[in-house]
Amino acid sequence: MAARTGKEFIARLKAEPREVYIGGERVTDVTSHPAFKGIIASLAHLYDMQHDPEYRDELTYISPDTGERVGKAFMQPRSKDDLEQRGAAMRRWALYSHGMMGRTPDYLSSSLMAFAAAQEYFAQNDPRFGENIVNYYRKAREEDLCLTHTLINPQANRAKATHEQADPFLAARVKEERDDGIVIRGARMLATLGPISDEIEVFPSTVLKADPKDAPYTFGFVIPCSTPGLKFVCRESYDLNRPKHDHPLGSRFEEMDSVIVFDDVFVPWERVFLYGDPELANGAFGASNAVLHMAHQVIEKNIVKTEFILGLASLIIDTIGIEPFQHIHEKVTEIIIGLESMRALRLAAIHGAELDQWGMMTPARGPLDAARNLYPKLYPRFVEIIQQISASGLMAAPTLADIEAPWGEEFIKFFSAARAEPRDRIALFRLAWDTAVSSFGARQVLYERFFFGDPVRMAGALFNTYDRQPYMERVREFIQQGIDESLAEMGKEEGAATAS
Ligand SMILES: Cc1cc2nc3c(=O)[nH]c(=O)nc-3n(C[C@H](O)[C@H](O)[C@H](O)COP(=O)(O)OP(=O)(O)OC[C@H]3O[C@@H](n4cnc5c(N)ncnc54)[C@H](O)[C@@H]3O)c2cc1C
Repeated sequence: MAARTGKEFIARLKAEPREVYIGGERVTDVTSHPAFKGIIASLAHLYDMQHDPEYRDELTYISPDTGERVGKAFMQPRSKDDLEQRGAAMRRWALYSHGMMGRTPDYLSSSLMAFAAAQEYFAQNDPRFGENIVNYYRKAREEDLCLTHTLINPQANRAKATHEQADPFLAARVKEERDDGIVIRGARMLATLGPISDEIEVFPSTVLKADPKDAPYTFGFVIPCSTPGLKFVCRESYDLNRPKHDHPLGSRFEEMDSVIVFDDVFVPWERVFLYGDPELANGAFGASNAVLHMAHQVIEKNIVKTEFILGLASLIIDTIGIEPFQHIHEKVTEIIIGLESMRALRLAAIHGAELDQWGMMTPARGPLDAARNLYPKLYPRFVEIIQQISASGLMAAPTLADIEAPWGEEFIKFFSAARAEPRDRIALFRLAWDTAVSSFGARQVLYERFFFGDPVRMAGALFNTYDRQPYMERVREFIQQGIDESLAEMGKEEGAATAS
């Protein structure tokens, strides 16, 4: 099998039933449940795009193993051109959801691609683990698998280490080690797209303490979402099954977040890539550079998302005639500056790319670190700007049912606008509402704040790893130069005074 179609994606979800809970209900078939209808259709569309003659070459490449076309995000980049190609494919998929889907499958395909390149890293404690990651990467590429991932332990008591929590099996940990694999019991905090992915990447969070007592919580593996004992406890769905007119985003791109419960889940050794070594586990995303290839996907997506926000804000301004006001210009300029900054960081990341120790052309860390620290501040501000420029327009946005009601005609004229027909104005403000007010919109803000890690600790990591030494040295030299020159001048003056 090679790059999948939407039909094939849905058929696999149907063929591999998983244990999903939502709204007090156990879901037997996610493909027919209303909570997942919109997002499954969107994912299916993305897979179909791989077969559309218009996008096929952009979204796929020839598998080195089979000669068949496979998804571009699985491509191991050896040159800057390869990176550009990967980026173009990521952008193409992001355009479909205007960046509102964070977990298009290319996000985690990128992680697997980099892990496999760093085979030796995983093989350090056991050569099998190195082989396992390569074998799994090939399988995922050839079967075009859609992955979710879960990294974070439950939030019970953040002041204590994982092994210090009241219940030792609160966080997922090894319950039993067997000849043929390990048995996992406990929970992980979150997996976006969990219930509707093919498989789940269970990797350590990068903030595990390198304490031997945390060893039972330390593993990296991937298993099918249909594995017995694996449970997905979903939050309520933000796809309310309303017409696209009313919920233009939530009805299409609701990715669903779920808590993962491992009820004695068996993981065969051939699916294990990291085990029992907190230090090695902590370093996996960084040392393999998976984090940079994932950050590449994120910046491509966030550029598209910012373009969308700029378009939306501009259309609102134009529609209700608020373009004369100066603060409106300032607010739009904030979005433009954000957009151009993200574009510049993307360019810098590709321009500064270098072959890493695994032979992969890897985007430069500095610009991508800047982007991942910047966007959690930009996106909440963009949403605030949409609220500020739209004001009560966000509430004066009746549904399609209201417009189509027998009395709809009587009221519609009150929704007129400077430069739009009432119906178009209402549809625009429904979109603004779904971006800036609805539960879908609020979750997008939360997502951008946190999905790539706690912004506070991300900033701490940058503080601790960024090489500031040369700049401190330069400032020291400047100060010393001032001291030296002042002393020399004083000496001259003293000399002059003595002479006179
Ligand atoms: C919408 C959404 C989708 C997500 N999807 C996924 C997913 O698919 N897979 C996945 O693995 N994860 C996912 N995450 C989780 C994400 O990785 C975490 O939210 C993020 O790493 C922060 O961890 P936390 O939520 O446990 O917050 P916590 O660590 O519990 O932090 C809570 C608060 O306490 C502060 N705090 C806690 N500990 C410290 C400390 N040591 N030093 C300083 N401050 C501290 C934080 O700054 C924060 O303000 C998702 C999150 C969101 C919101």
